[in-house]
Amino acid sequence: MVQKELWLSILNRLKPTIQRAHFVTWFQNTAVIDVKEGKMIVGVPTAFAYTWLKDKYATKIFQAANESDSSITEVAFEVHGELDCKIPGSDLIDVKSVYIEDDKKVRKVRDVNDVVVSKGRGSEKITSQMMNSRYTLNNFVIGKDNRLPHAAALAVANMPGSIYNPLYVYGSVGLGKTHLVQAIGNETLKNFPDKVVKYITAERFVTEVVEAIGKRYMHKFKDQYRKVDVLIVEDIQFFARKDSSQQEFFHTFNELYESNKQIIVTSDRQPAELDGLDERLKSRFGMGMVVELLMPDYETRLAILNQKCREAQMIVDPEVLAFIANNVTDSVRALDGVLRQVMAEAQLTDRVPTLRTAAEVIKRLNKAHKIIGFDIEAKQTEACAKNAVDVMKIVAGYYGMNVEDLLGSDRHTEVIIPRQICMYLIKHELGESYEKIGTTFGGKNHTTVMHACGKIAEKLKNNIRLVRDLNSIKKEMGL
Ligand code: ADP
Ligand code: MG
Repeated sequence: MVQKELWLSILNRLKPTIQRAHFVTWFQNTAVIDVKEGKMIVGVPTAFAYTWLKDKYATKIFQAANESDSSITEVAFEVHGELDCKIPGSDLIDVKSVYIEDDKKVRKVRDVNDVVVSKGRGSEKITSQMMNSRYTLNNFVIGKDNRLPHAAALAVANMPGSIYNPLYVYGSVGLGKTHLVQAIGNETLKNFPDKVVKYITAERFVTEVVEAIGKRYMHKFKDQYRKVDVLIVEDIQFFARKDSSQQEFFHTFNELYESNKQIIVTSDRQPAELDGLDERLKSRFGMGMVVELLMPDYETRLAILNQKCREAQMIVDPEVLAFIANNVTDSVRALDGVLRQVMAEAQLTDRVPTLRTAAEVIKRLNKAHKIIGFDIEAKQTEACAKNAVDVMKIVAGYYGMNVEDLLGSDRHTEVIIPRQICMYLIKHELGESYEKIGTTFGGKNHTTVMHACGKIAEKLKNNIRLVRDLNSIKKEMGL
């Protein structure tokens, strides 16, 4: 990665964690000056910015740098006065534009919901609602209950229009219907780049029919659909009692079906239960392949969580994932939502996701939920550290050791670091003197304690693992 790209990637990671006004103030006219042997040097325009960035954001910057390029193990700052006078054509990133790019993206998604999928014949364009390119058949986790829908989807993407036509996918909300059918769309386009895939929700279809009738261009509307090779229509229960749209869809369906074009529909119920829908349409749906998506079992839920962690490139303690899989049983969307929140919280607060974070997120999203496997109330009171002994218990618990180990004089790293962390926390969070801490730790000299605290402070500058551990411990302490 060249330096400018690297800095941009770091800034993009930092952006959600820092208030916009601060971000623009402190990161304007900064740049990566050099990266050598794992050490990244950030150039800043003034001494003031230098102090500010170093004191307030050094850890965050290091973390973001390490996430952008794992070979970076240290970050340093240098004042470079010339950064202040913007040289035209220089390598500086305009920090405001980091936001503007973002604004543009959002606007694009909101306003232009359509993408042109083919020019069609003549000047007419065929549009489709946007599909999420992240939905693939590869990242749709297969469990014992959704093997069939997945196999059918794969077959359709490999041979659209030949078998399983129409493909009817149903299930309640958040169980993966959209993921599965958009994955078919994406995969079909990968397999057959020339094919025209049109994705549309039934709701949008209805709006288009109404518009076409009003503006008298029904023939154009019909023409559009004739050129489609794969038509994906979501949530067809929406056609209930919308007679002219239903009629129009019925025609489109027949035309496509007769010319061996693939039709895929989704719904929240099986064909027979589509009240308010023409019997002929219902029976057409029943002619092809009807598959149901169910709430996945525990093992599949866990596999889905693991998959989502891989996609987000986050490592979450298996115990936390198991806890989420156990507790979130209403939909895959909810499962994904809880994981996202847990990961976001961990990232924003520099903490390792813990059972407590997960339990709190679940409780927040659904107050009535009875949490299995973690007692929020009980731990909260116990967790509030008021004295040195509390801190020791929490640190020992976090590292899976005994308080006696912390108090002893074992010089192994596995014990030394937790012991030093303990001293550091007692000093910085409880404000005890070096002398007193020394006495607590079995009569150690105050300089030993000072040295321990200094060591931790030093390590916190460039050891992400330690930063996260410390933050998690602090949370356990009720801070
Ligand atoms: P629906 O359309 O049925 O309401 P979605 O397709 O929007 O549900 O799915 C909700 C979320 O759950 C999406 O983020 C999707 O990626 C995820 N999801 C559902 N099923 C699976 C699965 N089997 N594997 C991976 N992710 C899934
Ligand atoms: Mg959906």
